[in-house]
Amino acid sequence: MVVSPINGSSPLSHSNGRTIPLSTFSRNSFVNVEKGDPVAFRSYWEKVRDECTVEIKGDEWMSYLGDTNNLCWYMVPQMRDAILRLHNVVGNVVTKDKFLVLGTGSSQLYQALLYALSPSESSHRPINVVAAAPYYSEYKDATDILQSRLFQWTGDAALYDKDEPYIEVVTSPNNPDGTLRVPAVNSRVEGKIIYDLAYYWPQYTPITDQLDHDVMVFTFSKCTGHAGSRIGWAFVKDIEVAKKMIRFTQLNSIGVSRESQIRAAKMIGVICDGYKILKSIESDHLFFDYSKRLMKERWEKFKTAIEKSKVFTLTKYPTSYCHFNKDLSEQYPAFAWLKCVEGIKDGESYLENLKIRTRGGERFGVSSKYVRVSMIGTDDEFNELCTRLSNAKRE
Ligand code: PMP
Repeated sequence: MVVSPINGSSPLSHSNGRTIPLSTFSRNSFVNVEKGDPVAFRSYWEKVRDECTVEIKGDEWMSYLGDTNNLCWYMVPQMRDAILRLHNVVGNVVTKDKFLVLGTGSSQLYQALLYALSPSESSHRPINVVAAAPYYSEYKDATDILQSRLFQWTGDAALYDKDEPYIEVVTSPNNPDGTLRVPAVNSRVEGKIIYDLAYYWPQYTPITDQLDHDVMVFTFSKCTGHAGSRIGWAFVKDIEVAKKMIRFTQLNSIGVSRESQIRAAKMIGVICDGYKILKSIESDHLFFDYSKRLMKERWEKFKTAIEKSKVFTLTKYPTSYCHFNKDLSEQYPAFAWLKCVEGIKDGESYLENLKIRTRGGERFGVSSKYVRVSMIGTDDEFNELCTRLSNAKRE
């Protein structure tokens, strides 16, 4: 490892071609791995920064409209083409015979879907919204915030025992625990399923199938790491559902920022071009190869730290064949899901004492013995997290 100064200021270390600022943590500062801010892939985007530069002139992209010939009228053609091209390169989803609906992040699409999938007759009781625990903590709050008469959060899908209509959110790979999932509700009534596929990308999990569900939601945030662009998209089979989602987005934000769409389309284009000219470029320039290697390296280091600590156990993941990478591979989830060993009841408090900020199991609908740790923060945070965990011997 070479240590060299940059611009005469902060020292940097180089690991496998990546430039990592040396730790800025003091013993008293917190390592915050509570949120899932996906900044881990910044080092890749730094390498290709010139190819990704987007210039937008003062008179450009002024209109609300993106493409009046498209059902999703606020989506610009470049964005639509880029999304379809990306899925074509990765092969993770069947895009044919589906409507593509763009959102301001997939968070907006979640709300749009609750609206679109709820029964419209006012005589109906609010439809039940469920997800198998541990579930992504924001679903509950995003469902309940407006105390809607259309839908209500009902909790763990595995415990759902009503013979009433429901919407089930299936997150696969799951946030927080990285597991691959199928619907969990066991009811005589047929439910509506939202597949949240935020992490169904090759850096996190082998691409085993080309998924073909009625409603599939993706986010640019976790695919490339550009969470700040606020771009999400959904593939929807039923035109009536798509129309209602678009109506929701119209009333909620009159569409999606065109500047963001142009930038996102450019980034996706750079990724796809890399795979087109595959043979002439180093694998370090291929986004999914680079990001998968980074996740693998992090997981290996993290597992060693957890083993040393003897305080937590980790979820075990299967190895499967990845049709995209054409190899057998493990999963490298965006979050680690830790379970405390016997005698420790509250993982979040335990780690808080070690100055590691995490999100406890109760927020995900399970016990406080569990805790979620982000694996996609900065190198600096991640390295400090591993150091602190390795030293976390039980008293
Ligand atoms: N679904 C899941 C499972 C997520 O983890 C996240 C982000 N943490 C989202 C949706 C929301 O993503 P976006 O940035 O697109 O709103």
